[in-house]
Amino acid sequence: MTVQVLPCSIPVLARGEVRMNPPRAPLSVYMHLPWCVRKCPYCDFNSHAQREAIPEARYLDALTADLEQALPQVWGREVSSIFIGGGTPSLFTPAAIDRLLTTLRTLLRVAPGAEITMEANPGTFEAARFRGYREAGVNRLSLGIQSFNPEHLKALGRIHDEREAYVAAEAAMGLFETVNLDLMYALPGQSLEQARADLEAAIGLGTAHLSAYHLTLEPNTPFAAAPPTLPDDDLAADMQEQTEALLGAAGFEHYETSAYARPGQRCRHNLNYWTFGDYLGLGAGAHGKLSFSDRIERQARLKHPKAYMDAVFSEPSTDHAGHLAETRCLSHGDRVFEFMMNALRLNEGFEARLFESRTGLSIAAAEPGLAAAERRGLLLRERHNIRPSQTGQRFLNELLQLFL
Ligand code: SF4
Repeated sequence: MTVQVLPCSIPVLARGEVRMNPPRAPLSVYMHLPWCVRKCPYCDFNSHAQREAIPEARYLDALTADLEQALPQVWGREVSSIFIGGGTPSLFTPAAIDRLLTTLRTLLRVAPGAEITMEANPGTFEAARFRGYREAGVNRLSLGIQSFNPEHLKALGRIHDEREAYVAAEAAMGLFETVNLDLMYALPGQSLEQARADLEAAIGLGTAHLSAYHLTLEPNTPFAAAPPTLPDDDLAADMQEQTEALLGAAGFEHYETSAYARPGQRCRHNLNYWTFGDYLGLGAGAHGKLSFSDRIERQARLKHPKAYMDAVFSEPSTDHAGHLAETRCLSHGDRVFEFMMNALRLNEGFEARLFESRTGLSIAAAEPGLAAAERRGLLLRERHNIRPSQTGQRFLNELLQLFL
């Protein structure tokens, strides 16, 4: 792996750009637990098949050391949300999750009532385990259901069957304040009716939040090497429309490209990403974004768990670099593009002043892209609100190109 650590320097103003105040943003924490029982054939996340026992205690020690070394970068800031993602975090014991959250609460100022989400897979469900996560402080569970159809679960290489999906979802609903169900559509051989049946099953379970992702063929995955037969673009678009209509009729708000929530149940952690907030990313392959008085910095940690752990432990506490694969300062152009890449996912868009406080730039810095997008009917501007049009939501990539 190429390790690239670039020194961060204060960006120089380009001609015509208006420098505002230092960027200001709320802070979240993301922790990555990178193991899975086995690798799903469509997955390009940083997840590693568990070939032997997970080195749980050593990995927790590494996360703690990582956090201790990162503390000066977030000193005094309050943490508004925490997300434990993976991989399959539910391969970790409740005692491990408890230790992780206790460490965070000890070393950081976690806001009272902070949203604490953990991802779990139905194939690793045990009632006592889920209860243990709840007792450790997890208040939002995100379950990787993907489908309730046995054939599609098999085609996706998932380790759970439909019965386990129902059992895990029902147990989660009774334990956690909020439950998100992840579903996928445009699956191998899937019909419109089958996609509808998955949605109806999720609604019937009483979930408060649902994420519906279009299955895509990611490079360097078994699915990309030997693609299964997938629904064509027209059928996939019909599935997308069906999802919006069905969930809308059931009282869900479609607030982001793939996210649907009952009123008051939007994911606060993800909203912080989409509104260009800050997040400290801990763990193998975790990404982070932090704002300072003179710069906005993106970080990525080493991806392989062993390399990450070895690097964290070999560093003196003052040198916070060896386990970072990349540190990058955002130029003014990067700030405009990355803000838009996130905020234009939100169907309600954003206020101009949010852009200014998160990027430290005047909204004038985004004007060429905004004007071009408006001319093409991809964007709407009403007073201070800026949001994607329906066409812009459908052709988000085309919209974002205009800010590159
Ligand atoms: S369970 Fe999730 S993270 Fe793990 S391999 Fe499958 S899709 Fe990837």
